[in-house]
Amino acid sequence: MHRSGRHFLQIPGPSTVPDRVLRAMDMPVIDHRGPDFAELGKAVLTGIRKIFKTTGPVVIFPSSGTGAWEAAIVNVLAPGDRVLMVETGHFATLWRQMAAKFGIEVDFVPGDWRHGVDPAEIEKRLTEDKARAIKAVMVVHNETSTGVTSRIGAVRQAIDRSGHSALLMVDTISGLASADYRHDEWKVDVTVSGSQKGLMLPPGLGFNAISEKALAAAEANPTTRSYWDWRDMLKPNSTGYFPYTPATNLLYGLKEAMAMLEEEGLDQVFARHIRHGEACRAAVRGWGLEVLAKNPAEFSPVLTGVVVPEGHDADAVRRVILEKFDMSLGAGLGKVAGKVFRIGHLGHFNDLMLMGTLAGVEMGLKLAGVPHQAHGVEAAMDVLTRQGVPDQKRAVA
Ligand SMILES: *Cc1c(COP(=O)(O)O)cnc(C)c1O
Repeated sequence: MHRSGRHFLQIPGPSTVPDRVLRAMDMPVIDHRGPDFAELGKAVLTGIRKIFKTTGPVVIFPSSGTGAWEAAIVNVLAPGDRVLMVETGHFATLWRQMAAKFGIEVDFVPGDWRHGVDPAEIEKRLTEDKARAIKAVMVVHNETSTGVTSRIGAVRQAIDRSGHSALLMVDTISGLASADYRHDEWKVDVTVSGSQKGLMLPPGLGFNAISEKALAAAEANPTTRSYWDWRDMLKPNSTGYFPYTPATNLLYGLKEAMAMLEEEGLDQVFARHIRHGEACRAAVRGWGLEVLAKNPAEFSPVLTGVVVPEGHDADAVRRVILEKFDMSLGAGLGKVAGKVFRIGHLGHFNDLMLMGTLAGVEMGLKLAGVPHQAHGVEAAMDVLTRQGVPDQKRAVA
């Protein structure tokens, strides 16, 4: 079927790639060992630190986010090591399964997929670990399957209060460059991210931001690794090069995306996401439906999970919306499959893109026969046209 106009890609990643970034990638591939490459390499390897808010090294793999998860595990952990993880949702569950495949013993704190990491529980578990057997706390910052953003700053404080020396490893694959994130200030040891969400790039880059403590742990780690070995990356990275062929054109795109983030200002980028999250949740309430996230202090600025009433199929709603309005929404994943759909409001996004998205959802609810009130779009417009009230600056810290 012919479709006119632009497809609405409102899944919470991959997100819409700006034309500026697409044009920046439309370049001849260059020799990654030649003199011109070092300039690009240095620019992105240095520039990306500002996005993670770190002064330490960030390695960039040609990989999906899942690859960067694996890199974090194999560099720091060895089979038989114990770690503490929290069931915030589908992505936390997948990372846990991966750790288990590598022979890591995971203490998995159960969760209801509607809340983030409870800092008090982390403190309790670490305090109880008298033998100091837990090597790392591994949590997901922005749980993309639920629309819940955990308070990593509070998790850090909980770890400090326990006096435990466990490493802190955080997945902010869908949080980086959309939700406030501070690698150094929160003393995160390994931050894992990817290119296709807040960074507004196509899929294909995986990131690890690495603390000195994590580097020391990697040096002492006897586990076999090759492709993901930080040491092999960091050596050539110091002069702007990579140990193997990097995703050169994605790096051109990354340079441009970082320029866009710098022009807008990271704080403005975060405030924009918070405001769109707020307007989107107002729409959900206007429909008389439920937001999956329960705790207002953990509402994600990146995406909103919408609970479909009992007896109705969230995938049927998504199907109608795709067919009729050419818009992709996120499916419910894992335990909430069929019960939830997810609206992405991240990356290269503005007020009218949000209103188009919400209008599509409101029409879809009607066509799919889901009982609702037709006041969602109106409620979101009220939020977006509010005057004299400064944008709520909720610090997820
Ligand atoms: C997208 C995502 C992943 C997986 O990334 P891929 O690039 O699909 O491998 C992992 N964790 C979170 C929180 C994500 O949003």
